[in-house]
This record gives sequence, C-alpha cells and structure tokens, in this order.
Amino acid sequence: MVTPDAEGRMPGPAPAVETRRLVKWYGGYPALRGIDLCVAPGEILALFGSNGAGKTTLLRILAGRVRPTAGTARVAGFEVGKGGDSARGAIGTLAHGHQLYETLTASENLAFAAAMLGLDRAGERIAQVLLRVGLKAAAGSSVRTLSSGMKRRLALAKLMLRECKVILLDEPYASLDLQATKLLEEFLMASKIGGAATILATHNLTMGFGVADRLAILRQGRLVFEGRRDETSLDAFRALFSLHGELGEVE
Ligand code: ATP
Repeated sequence: MVTPDAEGRMPGPAPAVETRRLVKWYGGYPALRGIDLCVAPGEILALFGSNGAGKTTLLRILAGRVRPTAGTARVAGFEVGKGGDSARGAIGTLAHGHQLYETLTASENLAFAAAMLGLDRAGERIAQVLLRVGLKAAAGSSVRTLSSGMKRRLALAKLMLRECKVILLDEPYASLDLQATKLLEEFLMASKIGGAATILATHNLTMGFGVADRLAILRQGRLVFEGRRDETSLDAFRALFSLHGELGEVE
C-alpha cells in the first residue's frame, strides 16, 4: 500500500522545484513571508498576484539571482545558488527585461549564450531557433534595432537553445503577438512532455489559467491559494483571485 510520508506527502517523483519556509526581506520589508512550494517534473504552475506580491522575487531566488533571507529552495536537484554551471544549464528563464546584449546581433547573443552553456553544434541550433521564432532575417541585426516583441522572441529563442529541467517565466506574454504567444505555448507543451517543470508568473489570468496544471496566488509575500486547474473554472478562479489576490492594504 502506498502511504504518505511523515509530513503527509505521497511518494512520487522528486519535485523539480521545492521551497521550504522561503523568506526574503529587502531592508525592513518582507517580500516573501514563508513560501512552501513544490512543482513536479512535467508540471506547469501558473503564479498570480498583484503588483508587489513577490512573484519576481520568488522566481529570482529560484533562478539563483537573489539570495533568500531564510528557508531553503532546491531547483533541478540543486540547492539554489550552489549548482554552478550545471544548475545554470538545467534552468531556463524568461525574465523582466530581455537579458540580451543590445550591442551584439541576434545571432551573436545566441552564440554567446550557447558558449556559456557549453552547447554542441551551436551554429546549427542557433539557425534552427532563429528560424523557429521568425527572426532568421534579423539574425545579423543589432539587438538595439529590434522591436520589443522581436527582443522577446529572441529571448525565447535563447530559452529554446536546449532542453531545461526547470523553466521560470516572468510575465512571458508581455510584448508577444498572437503568433509568438502560440510559439511560446507550443514550447511549453513540448517541454512539459520532455519532463520540464515550469513556473509561469503572469497578470494574464486567461493565458496563465489556459496553460497551467496547477494555479497559485501570492498575496503580500504569502501563498494564499494553491489548487489544480482541472478542479476549477476560469470564472470561479477569477472570482477567487479578486477575493484573495488583489493587493489590499499592505500590512
Ligand atoms: P509585479 O507584478 O509588480 O512585477 P511582483 O509580484 O513581481 O510584482 P516583486 O517584484 O517580487 O513583486 O516585489 C515584491 C516586493 O519586494 C515589493 O514590495 C517590492 O517593492 C519589493 N522589492 C522587490 N525588489 C526589491 C529590491 N531590489 N529592493 C527593495 N525592495 C524590493
């Protein structure tokens, strides 16, 4: 018989992302106030919350870009901030800003990323992803000359360079047109089938709900809701979000 462990969790594949009592203070402000979160391989978690709820802070900690004040987080089998190149290779991010070098061309940006990741057959992969995101003709253009949507497509191409175990997306739909949005969703579905765990933070309830297996709401640094997508409807979730997710008075 399958029995839960001492903390009530059922056995299963090790989580790809796991945080325990994760806390982040910025000066005197608690941006995260004790986050316990698990995301399984092949699962997509959509994370919602008003401005300042702590979504970006959580994603930046998981990506190893910000140190937590207290608590633990493991991502793709590594304690955050301690996995070095192996962790960087396993974790793909699409963050605020584009994380691109403005003075380099589109293909130079990808070549640089491929070199940092130590990828084989880099030239071939770069040509493939540029074609896939519709930027073949812009391969030799300086990033600073690209539109914001084209930059976002290039950031997506960078993410597509290799298979990741964990994908962290911060407001991924920003600046994307319909075609690029479809491309992003195809990429997420293919990554899911490949076993990647994804956390997607967005203000777009419809898009996030549509792509997710699980939904979570952050409010003032606390997870105030977590549930399976197939156990609710978009309308019911919208109502729940306005009840629990809106900013309200900051404590
Ligand atoms: P948004 O939807 O507006 O992007 P968010 O949910 O991503 O918001 P965060 O960016 O994580 O929220 O911010 C959470 C809180 O932490 C906010 O009150 C913000 O002012 C604060 N904060 C974030 N980054 C810093 C920083 N570098 N220094 C000080 N305070 C910060």
